[in-house]
This record gives sequence, structure tokens and C-alpha cells, in this order.
Amino acid sequence: MKKLLRNLISAETTAEAGELAAADIISAELGLSGIACRIDSWGRNRANLIAQIPVAVLGTPSGELKSARRVGALARQAGRRGGLLFACHLDVVAPGEAKWEHPPFSGVESKGKIYGRGSADMKGGIAAIVTAVRQIVDSGAKLKGDIILFAAAGEETDSCGAKRFISDWGGMTQLAGVVLPEPTDFEVVTAHRGMLWLKVETSGQATHGSTPELGVNAIASMRAVLNELDNYKIRFKPHKLLGRCSMSVNTIAGGKEINVVPDKCEIKIDIRTLPGQNCQDIISDFEKIFAKLKQKNSQFEAEVCVVREVGALETDSSCGFVKDFCSAVGISETKAVGFTTDGPHLAALGAPVVVFGPGKSEVCHKPNEYIDIADVEKAIEYYKNIILKFLA
Ligand SMILES: [Zn+2]
Repeated sequence: MKKLLRNLISAETTAEAGELAAADIISAELGLSGIACRIDSWGRNRANLIAQIPVAVLGTPSGELKSARRVGALARQAGRRGGLLFACHLDVVAPGEAKWEHPPFSGVESKGKIYGRGSADMKGGIAAIVTAVRQIVDSGAKLKGDIILFAAAGEETDSCGAKRFISDWGGMTQLAGVVLPEPTDFEVVTAHRGMLWLKVETSGQATHGSTPELGVNAIASMRAVLNELDNYKIRFKPHKLLGRCSMSVNTIAGGKEINVVPDKCEIKIDIRTLPGQNCQDIISDFEKIFAKLKQKNSQFEAEVCVVREVGALETDSSCGFVKDFCSAVGISETKAVGFTTDGPHLAALGAPVVVFGPGKSEVCHKPNEYIDIADVEKAIEYYKNIILKFLA
């Protein structure tokens, strides 16, 4: 497991490098137990990995590779229980500018921890579920439903992998539930806020910097927008677990030359939404702000567009799947978290979604990210228990 985790970290699956190298590593690892998988690859190095371990394969001697699709069709008839989908993501965020104690893609082991970008988010979870699935298959356990292992591209950027997987799904298998092995430090998470990323661009008219009165300064227009946003509150009632919707302007760019009045300025805004919130309402509010500014100054021009939208996750904590899940891991209460996942996309498959895995969320997306080796080992046992609870 440690070697697998270190190799996955070294695969350096940032947005620039793509996910293919990590998909190949997992495919080879699953192959050791005779588990076939499909790598769905596109673009330069983008990749999703899908392995379906149907009931028909479980119990057959390992080493016998079969077409996942063909055996999947068999399992549809033979499977008596709804399948379990474990949905991971292969990509990681960039290591950032700050200095790391150990090189971010070296997977250094020190004092019971493995360091590296993606160690917690979420290659520790991947190493654990892949190892758990291998151990179950190697044990020859007779299961009554399919295990589906999915590792996505692009979770950190645009969820392209999850969207692709869902559009290919076509009711492949009836599911009992979906588990995301993301770093929750072994809390059972059933809710998180959604994400609405907006870009606002103001347009002006460029002119020589010595005669600003002949142009329209797009930065000045943006200042007017920012002043309005200071007083703008998104109207939506707080959620009992998730608290309030939040908004933060996190990038600004405008102007090219010191002696040219800028004709473009843009900001990017990170809004975290609550279940049931309609993103169109927020966009309409922005358009109203622009209309008001235009009334004051007819030269004002601005546009808003959506950069990314992910819904909020809210799984009914009292449903049978969540209750059985909690009993399989010996935890009685469910929680909400601050980060987002591909969960809301996967909820479209119609099964309850829970997030549960090793690693602390507070080390993610930061320098010196790490995971405790003991936690990954604990996760292997938890995932085996979960599989046996639902499928044995
Ligand atoms: Zn993650």
C-alpha cells in the first residue's frame, strides 16, 4: 500500500500533467489481483479509470482477466444487491509557491507519515480503497453485488471526469450507494456547500494615458462594482449544518501598460452556495447592480459569466444506506464539511452519497501536505467492512 501511495504521489497529476500516469499505476495494481479496468483517456493526458468487479468474477482464481464490460453485463443478471460505487479523483492541485519541507512529488516517508501533494487529497484514500478491493477479491469472498471503482479526472478544476463518467453511465448497475474516499478524518460526511465561481468583466475604451478624459477606464468601472459588492449580501436563509452562503472576490486583473487607459478589467468571485439555492438568482442580482451603475454613468459596461458551478451535497442522513454505513464504521452521527467534492455530480446517479476517508482536510491544498500511514491502514479495514456489510 505504501509503495502504491508513493507511486501515485510521484505521478504528479496536476492540471498541467494530467491523470493518465496515475490511472496506469492503478490499472497495474488491480491487474495483480486479476481485476480488469478501463482507462477512458482523452486530450493530451487526461484520464478516468473505471473498474467494475461484478459478482461473477468474485471467487474466480485471480490472474484471470476478463473484459469488464462483458462481465458487467453478466453481473446485471446475477447481481442480487445494489452495487457500491467508490468514487475518487486522480488529480491534485499544484504545489504552490511556498517552500516544502520535502519535495512535493517525492512521497517521502518520515515518522509514520507520507508527505506530498495529494497524499491526503486524495491518493491516501485511493491507495486504501484499491488495496481493500484487492484484498476482498484475493480472499475469494462471495459477494452479492458489484463493486465499482471510479477514479476521476479534473475534480479540482471543472469536474470534467465526473461529468464524462455520468454521461457514459447509462444505468450500468443499480447502486445501493456512493462512497467518496476523500479526507474526512473518518467522519461520515453527508453535506457540503456548493460552489458558484463567477467572472465579472468591465469594458471601457482605451486611450493614451496622458488624456484619460478621452477614454473610459475599465478599472474605475470595476471599482464601482467592488464598492457595490461591499454592501451586497446574498439573500438565502442559513442551513442548519452548513451555515451561511459566502462570497469572496479572489482575483483581479486589468490594464496592460502604464501609459494606456485600460479597456478591460476582470475579477473572479468564489461563492459557496447552500442546498436549494438558485444560482440564477445571484446572477440576476449582479445584473441589477450593473443596471444601477449604468443608470448613474451611461459609459459603464459590465458582464458576468459562470466559470464553474457545482451544486451543494445533501444526503438524507436518516436513509437506510447512511444508517447501515454508519453502523459498518461504528459512527453514529453524520457531519457537514467546508470543502466541495464531485458528490453532487454523482448524486445524479440516484443513489445516496457519503464522503468518508483517511486524512485531515486542514492539510489539503497547502505546503507539507501529509497523511498518517496508520490512517490509510485503518481506512483499508473500514472499506473492507463497508463492502462486506453491503455486498456479502
Ligand atoms: Zn479531494
